[in-house]
Amino acid sequence: MTCKRCKLFEQDKEQLLSTLKSYIESLSEEDKVSQELYEERLSRCECCESLGNGLCKFCGCFVIVRAIKKKMNCPHPRGERWHKQD
Ligand code: SF4
Repeated sequence: MTCKRCKLFEQDKEQLLSTLKSYIESLSEEDKVSQELYEERLSRCECCESLGNGLCKFCGCFVIVRAIKKKMNCPHPRGERWHKQD
C-alpha cells in the first residue's frame, strides 16, 4: 500500500512547499482565480494579524492554497478580507 503522507510534520519545509505547489498545480484551472486576484488575496493575508507561518489561524488553512480557490473566502470573524468569486 502506498503511503499518502498524512503526517505533514514529517516533511521538511522544502518538501512541504513542494507538496503544496503540486497540489495547487493539480487543481482545475476553472476552480482557480486569476494570478492577479490570487496575488491580491495573498497581499491581504500578508497584512493580516491572523497569519502565522503561512497558516490562517481561523481556518487552519495554508493561505497559498485557500486563496487560489474561487469558492473560498476569508474566514475572518470580523469581516472577510477577501471574498469568494462566483
Ligand atoms: S483571516 Fe483572512 S486575511 Fe487573515 S490570514 Fe486568514 S484568510 Fe488571510
